Amino acid sequence: MIPKPASRHLGLDLGGTNLKWAVVERSADSWTSLATDQEPTRVVADHEAVPAAIVAQLAEIAVTAVAAWGPVVSVGIGVPGLYHPATGRTRFLVNIPGPWAGHPVAGPVADAVGVPAFLVNDARAFGLAELRLGAGRGAMSMVGLALGTGIGGVFAIDGRVHQGHDGTAGEIGHQTIDPDGPWCGCGNRGCLEAFARADQIAIACGTATAEEAVRAAEGGDQRARAGLAEIGRYLGIGIANMITIISPDRVVLGGGVAAAGELLFAPIRAEIARRVRTTSSNDVALVQAELGIWAGAIGAALHGAERAAS
Ligand SMILES: [Zn+2]
Repeated sequence: MIPKPASRHLGLDLGGTNLKWAVVERSADSWTSLATDQEPTRVVADHEAVPAAIVAQLAEIAVTAVAAWGPVVSVGIGVPGLYHPATGRTRFLVNIPGPWAGHPVAGPVADAVGVPAFLVNDARAFGLAELRLGAGRGAMSMVGLALGTGIGGVFAIDGRVHQGHDGTAGEIGHQTIDPDGPWCGCGNRGCLEAFARADQIAIACGTATAEEAVRAAEGGDQRARAGLAEIGRYLGIGIANMITIISPDRVVLGGGVAAAGELLFAPIRAEIARRVRTTSSNDVALVQAELGIWAGAIGAALHGAERAAS
């Protein structure tokens, strides 16, 4: 069989603070990240004009990145929210102002660089990147959580990230943990995210931010350690549910708080051991994500490549 020639793919990661990009190269079945960079997101004062300004910025970044690292055969764009896979238009974005319902995003970027462009949810992009190039490498089935302002979720089965019919599959953070629990931003109450998102970590640890909570716990602060143990218990319940349902061989935790390592992982493991009764939780590796802040852009590039090839 003649090996396929190497191909390059651009990924864009739309965030409320920064727009990141990555160019990845596919050679046979291996992927390499060639270049990454970022710039501040152009959030203009007039919120009505934000979507057009940001899409123009995405197209400009794409043109610049392709000029330096192209040619590319596809573009993937990670978005923090909901979208229409078939039309490449957004439905609703979290933490970015403006009228995003029905706004064209993939189309204008595809036109700017002359290759197909596809949208993907940013958490699914994170998971796909970790599955192919990061901490999920070699796993057949994987569960991923991105801990941050919210809790992004993703799962892969038989080596593929499960998207559902509209790209929303894997919202692990929005499973109900407590039927009478606190309200969640999604409109449900008692979601895992309502207990374990960044601001709740800070509250549980008695610190101003989640990052500060990790530093305090590492420095031996007892309240911060107890807070992380409490948060770890909730995360462990959510992850145990996922293990019971899909029996993954790897669970990948990303986001800044995952840097707490065993201070967070130990209570998660204890809760998993307590609750998973149908499969051996000893065979599930709980690991930290490896790709850091670039996972979203790299995963978007991988998604574009996979969609363009299908
Ligand atoms: Zn929710």
